[in-house]
Order: sequence, then structure tokens, then C-alpha cells
Amino acid sequence: MISKQIQDNLGRSSWIRSMFEEGERLRQKYGTENVFDFTLGNPDPEPPIAVKQALKDIVASDIPGIHKYMSNAGFDDVREAIAYRLERETNIPISKDHIIMTCGAAGGLNIVLKTILDPGNEVIVIAPYFVEYLFYIDNHGGVPVIVEADPCTFQPDINALEENITKDTKAIILNSPNNPTGVVYSKEILDELNDLITKKEQEFNTQIYILSDEPYRQLIYDDIDLPNILDIFNNSVVVNSFSKSLALPGERIGYVAVNPNIDDVELLVDGLIFSNRTLGYVNAPALFQKVIAKSLYSQVDIDEYRIKRDILYDYFCDFGFECIKPQGAFYLFPKAPIADDIEFINTATKYNLLFVPGTGFGYPGHFRVSYCTNLDTIKGARNAIKSLAQDYNLL
Ligand code: PLP
Repeated sequence: MISKQIQDNLGRSSWIRSMFEEGERLRQKYGTENVFDFTLGNPDPEPPIAVKQALKDIVASDIPGIHKYMSNAGFDDVREAIAYRLERETNIPISKDHIIMTCGAAGGLNIVLKTILDPGNEVIVIAPYFVEYLFYIDNHGGVPVIVEADPCTFQPDINALEENITKDTKAIILNSPNNPTGVVYSKEILDELNDLITKKEQEFNTQIYILSDEPYRQLIYDDIDLPNILDIFNNSVVVNSFSKSLALPGERIGYVAVNPNIDDVELLVDGLIFSNRTLGYVNAPALFQKVIAKSLYSQVDIDEYRIKRDILYDYFCDFGFECIKPQGAFYLFPKAPIADDIEFINTATKYNLLFVPGTGFGYPGHFRVSYCTNLDTIKGARNAIKSLAQDYNLL
């Protein structure tokens, strides 16, 4: 018999998965081209040519020792290359000693939570949220505390955060650009949050980490500036990956960057390296560490995503849905025309439209539309979205 905890978690199985299964059913019945699946965050583009070339070159060069065990933090030259880039993007003196290579952002989040949490410590998660956070926190004995974002902007709600920070708060997870809203957190709000944290740390005599989950960092539109978390928050740890920026989610490659200004930073880094080892990751995949070191300045075509965002955003707005225009990632998070978002997405499947209900992100009454799919699916969905809107008298 498996553990009660895992049984419970299986019971709360992911909406994204179940919508994907519904999609498979519809595809078999109506044919792939007639089903408009906007559920998954699995990038449609191929990795950039430079990435594929780097992979071929490294394999062809047959470097001796490349497939061996290494330091649990990863290859030194790869960590140096990442630190070099971060040092130029921030005002912080980051070195390779502050970088740990990980199995994607998911691996990075788990090693940070494993390293900082004592049983019962609270971790604040801003809703709507990437649902795996709750399981990751639970993996390491923490208690998630859900705080809703400002409903008009989806920015962090500073008053609500103030009410929820306690003496047991160990970390706040930030995710900007955000999944599922696509919103980029503003510098003003982040500065306010920093002031609040400083005040609360003094009040409770504690240390509160900002755990910044940034797999969409490179996917921003409209020439906006993405505020740099390491510059704003002293006690900050950034988790990044190449799953979205280089369209490499299956290769499981990312990193954790630790702010060198954190008290006891060496101890924290030692803890992260230990957790990388003992959670069984051991080290990030060797071959892809080398590939990303050669591809650090490449990225998928942002214009392609911007075009897709604009087309879909216009469809939803023109057909009467309320939606904040996202500035990053590859998701829209419109308001459902009825309070029951699950009933709404079930109705949408009548038009072969597949979305994920806001309930799956701890935020009912909305739905997520992922546009990391192909342009034909997006354009083909126009009439179906229009019919869905007509069904709810939005037109
Ligand atoms: N964090 C967020 C907000 C995500 O959306 C995802 C994946 O979709 C992840 C983390 C996990 O990313 P990775 O594939 O790098 O583990």
C-alpha cells in the first residue's frame, strides 16, 4: 500500500493533466486539426539552431570525462559562465560559488525548500500560482500560506501579504513573468514588498527568503524592463531554467543563483549542494550543462510568441471577455463569464476548446489559455472562441 500522503495528493491530481486527457479523447473523435488545445506549457518551437549546433559540436568533440560524476554543484566553467552573465545584469558581485546547476526549475525549487525549511515553517505563495509549489513545499515539511494577488492587476497585494507574514514565515515564492497570468511584477510593488519584509524581519527577529522562480525570465514583450530580484532583495535566491527560454523542457537543465549578500551564504550554498546530491538529482545533466554554457545568449524567437499573444488577446477582448494584457510568459488568464470556471471550461469543450480552469491555480472564476502552441491552432480557434462567447451572450 502506498503512503496516505501520496494517495491524498493523487486525489488532488492536476487539472492540466486531466484536460490533456480530455484533449486526447476529442482528438481521436474529431481529428487533431479540429481540436484547439490551449492547456499545456510545453513549448511548440524547436530549440534555437545555435543550441542544436552546440549539442552536435560537443558530442562530436568527444571531450574526455564529460560523462563522469562531477561536483554536485555542476561544472565550474558552466557556473562561471552563468555568474559572468548575472554579474553584468545585476549590481551584485556574483561568482561561480553562488551558482548551483539543477534539474530544471523544479529541481532548483526543491533543493532550496529542502535546504531552508524546518517542519512547520510557512512559505507564502501568491494566488493564482503554479500548482506544483504546494507539493514541493509539502515535500519538505513546509506549510503553504496562500495570499491572493490584487484582483485588478494580479500584482502582489502588499496589504494582504502584511496580514499573512508571521514569525513562522520562512520564504515567499515570487514568479514573474507569472504562470498563469503572464503579468510582470513592477519595480514599485517589489520595492514595497522589500520594505515590508525588512519591517517584518525586524519585528519577528527572523530571516525571510525571497524565492524567485524565473523560468519565463527571457519571455517578455513590449520592451518592458524586468526588475532584477537580486538587486531588490537581500535574502534572495533565484531559480531559473532553460525549459522555456531555449525550449528544452525535456532536458531538465536550470540553475539556482544565491545572493552573495545573504548572511551565512556559504552555509546556504553548502546546504543547496548537499540537497542536490541527497534528493537524488546528484548533479544536473552533464551534456546539457555544456550545451547551455555555449548557448547562454540564445533564446527562442520572442516575436513569434508576441504575435500569438496579440492574436489571442484580440480574439478574447473582441468577443467580450475580460483579460489583462500579459507582458510575459505564454499565458492569458481571462475572467470566466460565470463564477463556476469548471462549468465554463466544460462548456468550452463542446466547441473543442481546451483551457485549464483557474481553480487549478487556486484562483476560481478565471481560466488559463496557453499560447505556446502552433499558429494554425491559434488562428483556427477564432470561430470556436466566438461561438463560446455567443453561448454566454458576450457578443
Ligand atoms: N515554475 C513555473 C512557474 C512553471 O510554469 C514551470 C513549468 O511549467 C516550472 C517552474 C518548472 O520548470 P522546469 O521545466 O524548468 O522544471
